[in-house]
Formats: sequence, structure tokens, C-alpha cells
Amino acid sequence: MDYDTYGSNAVELAIHLANADRASDPDWAAAFLRAHDEWFTPETALDLSPAETRRAAATADLVRAVAVADSQDDVIARLNELLALARPHPYATDHDGELHLHYARPDAPVLDQLTTTVAMGLSQVVAQHGWQRLGVCSAETCDDVYVDTSRNASRRYCSNTCASRSTVAAYRARRKA
Ligand SMILES: [Zn+2]
Ligand SMILES: [Zn+2]
Repeated sequence: MDYDTYGSNAVELAIHLANADRASDPDWAAAFLRAHDEWFTPETALDLSPAETRRAAATADLVRAVAVADSQDDVIARLNELLALARPHPYATDHDGELHLHYARPDAPVLDQLTTTVAMGLSQVVAQHGWQRLGVCSAETCDDVYVDTSRNASRRYCSNTCASRSTVAAYRARRKA
């Protein structure tokens, strides 16, 4: 599938955010920002207050809600909730050598940069390629979400790990039967 690079990467950021492990670390959001700091203007402060961490969680929940929605009406409603949190201020840049667009003001607080990038990246993929491109992993023990970039939209698992684990499980189940 032929995504615009930045749009594609921005939707991956959205998926990573939705799948971030929030249970094991109260500072999960700041850790997430540090792990993805290439997305934010240099010198952006990456520390978050507890209230900001809750806002990051709300954004993650909305991304997940879009991915698990199973009708176009639902997807549109949830996408618009997410877009309402975005503060788009697009600008063109070639900071990495390639001319491309950024969606948020370079001097915006990190949470605005994150929410705007995630909302715009997700919306772009849904609008251009269809809401069915987002889904939730079919593995029994996993509920991570994914974006399906396969040519024939055949993806069912969040990762190769889940796909092969499920293949093995299905094989064992067949053998037992
Ligand atoms: Zn860039
Ligand atoms: Zn999975």
C-alpha cells in the first residue's frame, strides 16, 4: 500500500500510543514521549503533569476507539472526537532532507504536538484508505490495535509474534481434535 510517508508514520505513532502499556508505570506517557522524541520539535519539554498524563490517556483511548469501531458512522463520530482535541497548524519542512508536512505548531506544548500528529495521521489514513484498515488483533490473548498496510487488506494480527503464536495454537487445536 502506498502511504504518504509522514501520514503513514504518524498513524504508526497513533497505534503505538493506543497500545502503550499504561498499567506498569504511572509515568508511562512521559516514557512514551521520550521513546518517540523524534516526533517533537527539539527543545520541547517532554515532562507531563498528572493531569497531562490523563489527557494523553484520553487521546490513546480515542485512537483505540476509532480502531475498534465496526461501522463507518462510529468511526466518523470517534474520529471527530479525536480531531476536536487537535490544534492543527500545518507547515512544510525539509528538516530531514525530504520536503514534507508537519501538522502541529513547532512551538506547541508536547501534548498538543502529540495529539495533533496522531489525530491528523489517523484521519488521513481513514479518509484515504478506508476505516476497515484499522483493527484489533485476533490473537486470543492480545487486544492491541493495528493499521493494515497490506496490499489486499488481509491483516488480522498486531504483529508477526501474534500471527505465528495463533498459527501454532490453531495447529495444536486441530491435532487434539
Ligand atoms: Zn519531519
Ligand atoms: Zn496481538
